Amino acid sequence: MNDHCCAMMSSNLAGGETAILYVPKFRDYGIPVLDGGGSFIAISHCPWCGQTLPHTLRDRWFTEIEARGFEIGDDNIPVEFATDAWWKASA
Ligand SMILES: [Zn+2]
Repeated sequence: MNDHCCAMMSSNLAGGETAILYVPKFRDYGIPVLDGGGSFIAISHCPWCGQTLPHTLRDRWFTEIEARGFEIGDDNIPVEFATDAWWKASA
């Protein structure tokens, strides 16, 4: 089963040498900003196949964390929230 929209996206993300970023825990796709920081510009369509990418789960991530009584940076945030495990489990 393919995790992304197309083979080009999957292989470029796996290779890690293309200027496309994927954040599994937020299901965010983006283009990194080359200012030395960690920010990126979110993209809504795949640059190779043109498909609409799935919506980011960033807001839901924060909602789920807060619903469990955690705050950002809390060391006790369940480990599945560091990866895509939390949303794949509820998909
Ligand atoms: Zn694609």
